[in-house]
Amino acid sequence: MPCWIYLWLAEWRGWLKRDGMAGADIQVFQVVRGDDWHSRAWLRPGWGGLALPGAIVLNDQSSLTRFHELRHIEQWKILGALFPLVYGFCAFAYGYRNNPLEADARDHAAWQWRWYMRKLNEMQAGGRR
Ligand SMILES: [Zn+2]
Repeated sequence: MPCWIYLWLAEWRGWLKRDGMAGADIQVFQVVRGDDWHSRAWLRPGWGGLALPGAIVLNDQSSLTRFHELRHIEQWKILGALFPLVYGFCAFAYGYRNNPLEADARDHAAWQWRWYMRKLNEMQAGGRR
């Protein structure tokens, strides 16, 4: 049973809402904003999102965060069940910012973002001709 199934409980509770798929096998959830305790706890600034095998949860709506969390999914795929252990160890050894898995996700998301913006600019330039 995929572990993101627990996110259905949060969706049923009204904390998350489903926002389609990213690719064939990744569920996307958005955090629902409100003024209850859960919103105050979850919507703290600096918390962009969360990746689980098969699902991402986005608190921050930006494409950059989406790319970042999707990169964590790729890391899950490579490391499998070791991901939480490796992530936890690296977080302990290097801290959040210097965690190699975070640095990789950050760099990859920035690269994807630049690629995406370049394609968008090319399309707009093409349309004007
Ligand atoms: Zn991250």
